[in-house]
Amino acid sequence: MALSGLDIYKLLPKTNCRECGFVTCLAFAMQLAKKAVSIDKCPYLSKESKETLNAQAQPPIKMVTIGTGDEKLEIGNESVLFRHEEKFHRPCGIGFILEDSLPETKLKENIARINGLNFERIGQQLSVNLIAIKYSNKDKFINAVKTIIANTKLGVVLVCDDPAVLKSALEIAKERRPLIFGANKNNLAQISGLAKEYNLPLVVSAGDLSEAAELTKQLNSQGLTDLIIEIVNKPVASRLWDLTQIRRQALKKSNRSLGYPLLVAIDQPDQFEEVMEAATYIAKYASIVLLKGIENWQALALLTLRQNIYTDPQKPLQIEPKIYPIGAANNKSPVLITTNFSLSYYTVLSEVEASKVPAYIVSVDTEGMSVLTAWAAEKFTPEKIGDSLDKFGLKDLVSHKKLIIPGYVAMLSGELEDKTGCEIIVGPKEAAGIPSFLKNL
Ligand code: SF4
Repeated sequence: MALSGLDIYKLLPKTNCRECGFVTCLAFAMQLAKKAVSIDKCPYLSKESKETLNAQAQPPIKMVTIGTGDEKLEIGNESVLFRHEEKFHRPCGIGFILEDSLPETKLKENIARINGLNFERIGQQLSVNLIAIKYSNKDKFINAVKTIIANTKLGVVLVCDDPAVLKSALEIAKERRPLIFGANKNNLAQISGLAKEYNLPLVVSAGDLSEAAELTKQLNSQGLTDLIIEIVNKPVASRLWDLTQIRRQALKKSNRSLGYPLLVAIDQPDQFEEVMEAATYIAKYASIVLLKGIENWQALALLTLRQNIYTDPQKPLQIEPKIYPIGAANNKSPVLITTNFSLSYYTVLSEVEASKVPAYIVSVDTEGMSVLTAWAAEKFTPEKIGDSLDKFGLKDLVSHKKLIIPGYVAMLSGELEDKTGCEIIVGPKEAAGIPSFLKNL
């Protein structure tokens, strides 16, 4: 049975030292009871308390691993309904369904395109995770599995509900820890037998929540726990309702039979609607979405959304605070001031690069806050900016005394001029204005 906040409090040191980030041990205990924090935040727990709390802290949603090595995908292990309560832990896997009927050359071409769906955004490398191969014919399926294994390092999903064919495919793919996607109430015994024999994760498909709970209980009784739930094809609103209810049941009702990651395979011929549907499920609460379209714009849209949702809301993406030379910057180049919030920096960077004017960008440490937020929080002040310029050694890089500040903080001009002795030039409010601003400077 789950421990209450008071039960947990009795296990804590009760010194109210605040090192966990909470003002009292009781406040920390209440958050632990809600599974909104990790016990690791308290460094003073006794061994016994740690063991008891660790057992209590087991994630209400099972973590499942697909694939091996650097490309392995870990999903599940979520602990909150809303990211602002803590954060979402394991980004939704994005994969693509290929038909085994594709000619060999077309199959290889599509695999290469999927392998190439990598993008850099605000300093992070974003990439897709899975290739799913769908069974229609034994020989074609087996050949396609061989081709995929030979041509990608991404995780592999075997979409097949025929136990005999699946067994042959597993003999080829087993070292890659593929995901088996094909179990339902009609073939549960045979397919689950293969999952157990090869010790592989398994998707169980059900028509509704109660059927899903019943099937996972049956699988648990066979010792299978690396499970993923699929609620079979439904209109978007109904499926979204199902996904939300499953997450609520797992987190709020401690319903262990629904405490598994969720998979959605999208069957939508229109590519725009396919992306919108996938985006809906990435937001709530799919751990894997599989789609058919492999266009760059589709993957970029979904990867960007995923990056935004799975960023820790309490830790904005930050870059190292320092001076960044852009292009062939020299001692006459303009100096632009911004914050170390990744999105601010990379937005300014792309516009400076677009201007083709060599320049310096000074990223001031604002603990990852954007310009106006940092100004309001007094993290982007004339003192802070002046101290940063001294620390980074700006005067050794340029021979002029001019600084360009963002238009939104024009009010800093006077004090910043006093603090630095530099002429302050107010730049555009929006980064999009930077290229013309720099060219006319
Ligand atoms: Fe209490 Fe531990 Fe938090 Fe200190 S770190 S306040 S001892 S829970």
